[in-house]
Amino acid sequence: MPKKIRRIKVCPICHSPKIKFSSQFDGWLTPEVYICIECGYRGPIILEVDINEVQDDSTAKK
Ligand SMILES: [Zn+2]
Repeated sequence: MPKKIRRIKVCPICHSPKIKFSSQFDGWLTPEVYICIECGYRGPIILEVDINEVQDDSTAKK
């Protein structure tokens, strides 16, 4: 049985999971961008992490 791993997307800048996903910004021809509610980051790059790593960042080294 495979391990259940939950992955979440977090901001690459502040590592906040409060990410908004936005396609189509009015008029813009940009593809999807992620918007961080915490720090205001906006861009196509997002960090995807194991949810366990987020909960205790320093000790989760398997
Ligand atoms: Zn952020």
